[in-house]
Amino acid sequence: MAQGPSLYETAVLQFERAADATNLTPYVREILRHPKNEVLVNFPVLLDNGSYKVFPGYRIQHNNVLGPFKGGIRYHPSVNIDEVRALAAWMTFKCALAGLPFGGAKGGVAVDPKAFSPGEVTRITRRFTSALGANIGPEHDIPAPDVGTNAHTMVLMMDTYMNSQATSTRQASWGVVTGKSLTCGGSEGREKATGQGVQITLESFAKEAKVELDKATFSIQGFGNVGSFGAVAIAEMGAKLTAVQDHTGSIKNEKGIDAKALFEYFRKAGGIKGYPEAGACSSEDFWKTKVDVLVPAAFENQITEQNVGWIDAKIIAEGANGPVTMAAEKKLLERGTIFIPDILCNAGGVTVSYFEWIQNKRSEHWDLDEVDARLKKQLTRACANVKKEAKRLKCDFRTAAYAVGLQRIEAAYLERGIFP
Ligand code: NAD
Repeated sequence: MAQGPSLYETAVLQFERAADATNLTPYVREILRHPKNEVLVNFPVLLDNGSYKVFPGYRIQHNNVLGPFKGGIRYHPSVNIDEVRALAAWMTFKCALAGLPFGGAKGGVAVDPKAFSPGEVTRITRRFTSALGANIGPEHDIPAPDVGTNAHTMVLMMDTYMNSQATSTRQASWGVVTGKSLTCGGSEGREKATGQGVQITLESFAKEAKVELDKATFSIQGFGNVGSFGAVAIAEMGAKLTAVQDHTGSIKNEKGIDAKALFEYFRKAGGIKGYPEAGACSSEDFWKTKVDVLVPAAFENQITEQNVGWIDAKIIAEGANGPVTMAAEKKLLERGTIFIPDILCNAGGVTVSYFEWIQNKRSEHWDLDEVDARLKKQLTRACANVKKEAKRLKCDFRTAAYAVGLQRIEAAYLERGIFP
């Protein structure tokens, strides 16, 4: 079978569609085709049995013309340099589209955190941070959580980084990572921000597909940070959750699944399998469930040529990064499916990360109401810009989203020029 483009090639092809549509300056296009810096570290970690294991870790810094590099850290066995490159590039376009003063980066360690003890995972995080050294920093490159990492991982990264700084500058380092716990400099509303952003962008785009959210049905793949908070936020608008899939299995109930109750269940059980108020179903059944809105919120490349024929949804709200292959996207666009592209749909997380970073810089703590209001304003404006650009360029929403981001990046290059 012919192999499709790699994930990084996909990211490049996506931005090049918009580069063609906006007639992007050739040298800016050439720069954006390549990540600016690639950091690979192989670091040893002491395991509980007294032996050492060496882990490969990555930090790809794609672009920083608009501000410090910014992007999550992923812990997953499948992490590889191509995937991290793609995720870093998507961060560049996401931050530019959302109007944030950040560039794009991503990092990861090829490890299954569930296969190691909490002490081992702590040592992995501390050694990885130490190996990254001065490649991260509050004014240079600012990591955040992603798949397999959480607020505690960020606190450990912050603490390790701080302890490597001169005593007199240590306290200026809180903002080296975002997505921290509230106790250690995190922001109100950060944990739910990406899921909340999925709901805000969905509210904005529902009209485009003539979907009334208080009467709509939806399904979600992935019930982790993005999926669980996203499900609760979308259900709060009156929509009915009818099918869910995570790594433990798939469940379905046409009468509706109580998102909050499933959230509580998943917190205790570690997955959705066995949730008593919905029946177990096959993965095929999950994808075949007819819904108004499908939210892929797990991983990249989940909707492919293999399962695209099963999907019956008016809107695909991409909570995950790169969940739909280009071949599957083409088929869905031909069918009139509306996409809320990942770089817009899941931009809520990095937006509240930006708020956290500002709060750290100013030694402030904002109320949840303030964070929520600012998030809504920022994302609603980004949605409006994407719709306006789609009309102007007569293109799909993904291309329009890239076009908005690309033009901001291009303007900065044209004014700054290339040094020396
Ligand atoms: P997470 O680790 O909290 O959750 C991942 C979810 O995917 C889990 O529910 C897991 O069960 C599920 N999953 C794993 N393997 C699966 C499989 N084979 N089939 C079905 N489900 C499976 O991760 P997250 O932070 O929620 O991230 C999810 C996606 O959202 C990723 O693409 C990530 O890059 C993106 N994202 C996350 C954030 C954030 O703030 N956390 C921000 C922007 C984008």
